[in-house]
Amino acid sequence: MQNIHPKTYESTPPRKVAFIGLGVMGYPMAGHLARAGHSVTVYNRTATKARAWLTEFASPERSDLACASTPRLAAQNADVVFCCVGNDDDVRSVTLGTDGAFAGMQPNAILVDHSTASAQLARELDAVAQASGTHFVDAPVSGGQAGAQNGLLTLMCGGDAPTFERMQPVTMAYARACTLLGPSGSGQLAKMVNQISIAGLLQGLSEAIAFGQNAGLDMPQVLDVIGKGAAQSWQLDNRGKTMVADAFDFGFAVDWMRKDLGLVLDEAKRNGSRLPITALVDQFYADIQRIGGQRWDTSSLIKRLR
Ligand code: NAP
Repeated sequence: MQNIHPKTYESTPPRKVAFIGLGVMGYPMAGHLARAGHSVTVYNRTATKARAWLTEFASPERSDLACASTPRLAAQNADVVFCCVGNDDDVRSVTLGTDGAFAGMQPNAILVDHSTASAQLARELDAVAQASGTHFVDAPVSGGQAGAQNGLLTLMCGGDAPTFERMQPVTMAYARACTLLGPSGSGQLAKMVNQISIAGLLQGLSEAIAFGQNAGLDMPQVLDVIGKGAAQSWQLDNRGKTMVADAFDFGFAVDWMRKDLGLVLDEAKRNGSRLPITALVDQFYADIQRIGGQRWDTSSLIKRLR
């Protein structure tokens, strides 16, 4: 069971929705959809998680919540089908093929992919949607597990405006911001910008904290002071003191960051961007994987400096 935290939901007409992928992110996101009054059918590859979700959110008054044995069956009556799995291949495996979501979707229904995947995959799925009379929006998220539990994620979307207008009010059950940034693939590209911004910053913060500790400074006190000046960042505010304390058993996993930086570096080759620091930090994360930190938080970069 994963806690979802109370939230005041905006009033929106209840919709029939499906949610595919009840991981760290999907489980609470689907929970917020149920709490906001939408009829939700969930699918998860490991069926025990789907049953646990149903046990947590269904009740005699909520007979509109269900779990399905395939993505196709989950999707078949839904106005909007959400998906939050792993990488490109995982998204393909739950959306395409005879048991994939597209095979069950009714005309005009929308598939929203919240996984962090490639922009090329988004364009590929958009073409599948167009050919089948359905719609597609790529909508990767930022905000992590806490953002999902609190229903306060940020969504970066790619797609067409009429489709976005239909899906956006439903997503506000678990989002605080949901913005259309351009045509299909734009959400994934924006998420890459987000990850590039974070990678270099975390290496800088790691070097700063390691330097301060080697210099014998009281680093929690130093972070409080510099956090009120130009060095302030989300990472400093939320991860600085845990980095000082050598605590990494939470947050956004190094394995996921390497997947995301792989997507970034592939896209950079295509669009001619030079990303020397990002490429270096990607290799630093490979070091962290080698010392057993695959599931540690991304702030564990500092481990290389100790
Ligand atoms: P997670 O906890 O590992 O869960 C992954 C989910 O996807 C599970 O439900 C898993 O099913 C399912 N799945 C994976 N491969 C599948 C396949 N081939 N077929 C069917 N189902 C499959 O991952 P997460 O942390 O929720 O992350 C999900 C997505 O959100 C990723 O793209 C990640 O990069 C992105 N994201 C994560 C965070 C974060 O802080 N965690 C933040 C922003 C974005 P099983 O239960 O059967 O394994």
